[in-house]
Amino acid sequence: MINVEKNKNLKEYNTFGIDVNTKLYINIENTIDILESIKFIKNENITNIFVLGGGSNILFMGTFNGLILHINTRGINIISENDKEVYIKAEAGEKWNNLIQFCIEHNFWGLENLSMIPGKVGSSPVQNIGAYGTEVKDVIYELDAYDIFSGEKKIFKNKDCDFGYRRSIFKDKLRNKFIISSVTYKLSKIPKPNISYKGLGEELQKSGGDIYNINDIFKSVCKIRNTKLPNPDIIGNAGSFFKNPLVSSSKLADILREFPDVVYFIQDDGKVKLAAAWLIEKCGWKGKSWGNAAIYEKQPLVLINKGGASSQEIMNLANKIIEDVYSKFDVELEIEVNIVAS
Ligand SMILES: Cc1cc2nc3c(=O)[nH]c(=O)nc-3n(C[C@H](O)[C@H](O)[C@H](O)COP(=O)(O)OP(=O)(O)OC[C@H]3O[C@@H](n4cnc5c(N)ncnc54)[C@H](O)[C@@H]3O)c2cc1C
Repeated sequence: MINVEKNKNLKEYNTFGIDVNTKLYINIENTIDILESIKFIKNENITNIFVLGGGSNILFMGTFNGLILHINTRGINIISENDKEVYIKAEAGEKWNNLIQFCIEHNFWGLENLSMIPGKVGSSPVQNIGAYGTEVKDVIYELDAYDIFSGEKKIFKNKDCDFGYRRSIFKDKLRNKFIISSVTYKLSKIPKPNISYKGLGEELQKSGGDIYNINDIFKSVCKIRNTKLPNPDIIGNAGSFFKNPLVSSSKLADILREFPDVVYFIQDDGKVKLAAAWLIEKCGWKGKSWGNAAIYEKQPLVLINKGGASSQEIMNLANKIIEDVYSKFDVELEIEVNIVAS
């Protein structure tokens, strides 16, 4: 039976470490909890609902005046396999890195470049998590989700999720409308190292040889991440605060005229992805503070809570950066983190 808690503190449930409460909170541990919560929402006519995973990609802007559904279901199962492929279904509340560990141990290829990303399985499709040349959309087969308001269970095939760069249908049109209950990934039993990301290839070469096993890749990814990113258990943060902006090739040409060292990546569709970290650093923000909020010294894309920062302090800093990048480059930075209004 579900337990509806009142005025629950959320400081431990968001990696920014923002000290806020929620009016109502339900801990979800199984499908029955999901169905009972949906019934409760209907009976009480609740409209302000937020589905919470590991809280590593959100910024609470103040007391949440609604209901938090905290997804803590567990389980990882092989549902079918042949010589070449395996289908793995993981419950939404399973820690992402438990799934990674499972895949590394079994030699199932596809997720290794996404090692060490904090959070849970159910959030992986929401912003189509990506790192080191891999996006999770490339291995998501389908997912199960419950309509929060009708209780209807729906299967979303990969193509139904409308995946894009750090986005999916669940981050826009269906935001807070569905509870993703499990995700099925189609992985390869045949080694498929993806070392297209320059920094990863270089790190692997340091270990010698040119044939890499899944564990080599896992270890290299962890090594790079440990040197570049703050550990949220120690320094409050939500990873990259901004997306890398996509611009046209003519916009790139304008920027190149004045800044020949701009860092960019040409996309398959001809658009250009600018390195937001470079733009921010060029505006002189790297390592700077604004009250208790600051920019991480080793990675300017990451905003950190130096201790006791309010969400407003973090947003003030973010807005200042957006303004500066716009006035210097005429490029708009988009926030990647989910801003949760009260
Ligand atoms: C140090 C650090 C490094 C990071 N590195 C990366 C990186 O390399 N690449 C990357 O893509 N991200 C990265 N992130 C961001 C974050 O870890 C990922 O986006 C992660 O998938 C978020 O998972 P979560 O469970 O914490 O989600 P939450 O923060 O709890 O939620 C994120 C969003 O998903 C929704 N959601 C969560 N669970 C469900 C569900 N079951 N059903 C429906 N909606 C749901 C929430 O409502 C919210 O909108 C990083 C974060 C940190 C702190």
